[in-house]
Amino acid sequence: MNKNIIPVNLQKVFILGGNSKIILTNPITENFLIFRIKISKDNNNLFFVSFKNGSGFYEYLGIINNEVFKITVNSKFKADSPQVKGFSFIWDKIISNKEITEVIISHDKKCPVCNKALLTDKNIEIGFHEYCFKKVTGFAFNKYTSISD
Ligand SMILES: [Zn+2]
Repeated sequence: MNKNIIPVNLQKVFILGGNSKIILTNPITENFLIFRIKISKDNNNLFFVSFKNGSGFYEYLGIINNEVFKITVNSKFKADSPQVKGFSFIWDKIISNKEITEVIISHDKKCPVCNKALLTDKNIEIGFHEYCFKKVTGFAFNKYTSISD
């Protein structure tokens, strides 16, 4: 079981970090789905969501536009696929501040802003580098972590 769980109150900021990867795990079956969410180069409100397939390649899933997730004509997955349903499920709950108990949302020890490795316990707990967290939220992350200096 992956232990790099993204703190509930940071799930949205993590996913919209600009260059994020998330792992959705069913805690009962331990089946998992991996998604990548990349910000558009010319629109800060537009993100491209891809799904990592069994061969390790990312396939285009859909967009998050002004916080709304949808598939588009170029999506490689249908609306009723587990990939689209899985991502929609967690995203709709996150943006409506509903608790997610059905799946575990974790990271792969990479910062969602700069895509470089998270090395310290504190960085892994929060899911960001301190500098990157401050860049996207404006906050120092001391108040979010249980680990003291
Ligand atoms: Zn970083």
